[in-house]
Amino acid sequence: MDLLPEEFSRRMAAFMGDEFQSFAYSCSIGDRKNALRVTELKTTAKQFYEQAPFKMEPVQWVKNGFFYDYKDEVTTHPFFRAGLYYITEASAMTPADRLPIEPGERVLDLCAAPGGKAFALAGKLKGTGLLVANEVNASRAKALLYNLETLGASNILITNEQPHKMAGSFENFFDKILVDAPCSGEGMFRRNPEAAKQWSAEKVRTLAGLQKSILSSAVRMLKPGGLLMYSTCTFSPEENEQNASWLLNEHPEMEIMEIEPYEGFDHGRAEWADGDGRVVKAVRIWPHRMDGEGQFMALFQKNGMPETAAAKPPSMKTRKAKSKKEQTGTRDLTADEKKAFEKFAQHMTLDMRGKKIEVRRESVYLVPDEMPDFRSVRIIRRGLYLGELRKNRFEPSQSLAFALSAKTFDNICELKGDSGAAERYFRGETISDKSGEGSSKNGWILITYGGFSLGFGKKNGGLIKNKLLYSRRA
Ligand code: SAM
Repeated sequence: MDLLPEEFSRRMAAFMGDEFQSFAYSCSIGDRKNALRVTELKTTAKQFYEQAPFKMEPVQWVKNGFFYDYKDEVTTHPFFRAGLYYITEASAMTPADRLPIEPGERVLDLCAAPGGKAFALAGKLKGTGLLVANEVNASRAKALLYNLETLGASNILITNEQPHKMAGSFENFFDKILVDAPCSGEGMFRRNPEAAKQWSAEKVRTLAGLQKSILSSAVRMLKPGGLLMYSTCTFSPEENEQNASWLLNEHPEMEIMEIEPYEGFDHGRAEWADGDGRVVKAVRIWPHRMDGEGQFMALFQKNGMPETAAAKPPSMKTRKAKSKKEQTGTRDLTADEKKAFEKFAQHMTLDMRGKKIEVRRESVYLVPDEMPDFRSVRIIRRGLYLGELRKNRFEPSQSLAFALSAKTFDNICELKGDSGAAERYFRGETISDKSGEGSSKNGWILITYGGFSLGFGKKNGGLIKNKLLYSRRA
């Protein structure tokens, strides 16, 4: 229990009474279980369960979540590098799981890095609609990009912006918003003792204030009828129930909603929010009651009729003089570029329905037809980066490799599981075409493992030159 800051223990003891001892024990020692979430964009939980060589048991309260044994090297396995799953603690999977998402919706993850919840939200959209994954911190935004690229999805926009700046441009725009707020991280003390060292009551107050401002921006961006999930991985009532209560008072258009229950969940505590009974609809996950770290979630709905017409960013209305393409700095493929792209594209099957190709300088992207003009915010990635135009050739990107599989590319080398070929490929080595099986024509070849794409190679005779541009590591 030494791990826990003294003042933190005093505060929690006052809040929790008799329950404090078992809570404090679990916070400092307790059983920590490792978990992963499978993305439905590439496989199904059932198929993964049958195919993966790890011992796993389902996380009972989260769809597609599994506990795994810490001895299994899940972060070096080719399936991890192929983007089939994301390593994330089980409680932390819950907010994205409990935010209802329908295909075709516009979804915003406002505090998204390193991307565990955005990974899940993208899966729930099933490649339709739009996911805007925003991260204010530039270096964390790069990690977010790196993690989301493995999904190979074209309906994702990654931004690096302050929430209030986004709100200025996207009033009433999103159907669903997740605010997984920066918090004092009390729920992660046993995993991250550094967070315990840096904890102070002052920090709790400051972060509670920051969360209010982020929540207000989120409310502005939410469509009438839309849902907002507010989550933290901390226990302090200031950052949780008190902010939920504040939001309801400050924004009377917002109503708190029930969250799909689970037997281990606790409810929000009205007594920790000046007796505001509305906050009992929130959910708390306690480490001494469940196989997960601390988590708080509150789901809100914005009153009013859902809009059917697409809400347009105000910034678009003021820029009538320029065409949409000029505004976004994009262009179409020229006739020669189109030929070069199609020469490559004839080998792949990529669902381009409802999507269009955009070129920026020499880079080619696949974006949803309805991609709005997001120029007023800092963009890190817009859609699926397909590759580069080089003179009269097209060079595919690593993110395009992640969008393909053994079923959707006509020249593949399916690596043999026990040959060590995957390791050699990840090390950037040239591999022999005897490392795997497949159609093996000369030219661009997709290197697959269990049918899932790891990256490209270029085959010439019996050798496959390594074209892996980068590989995901945990
Ligand atoms: N949702 C993420 C996931 O599942 O991987 C974790 C998000 S983490 C709890 C909170 C994020 O909020 C951090 O990446 C942090 O950089 C970001 N953040 C910090 N200050 C912020 C601010 N003023 N506005 C918006 N986000 C902020």
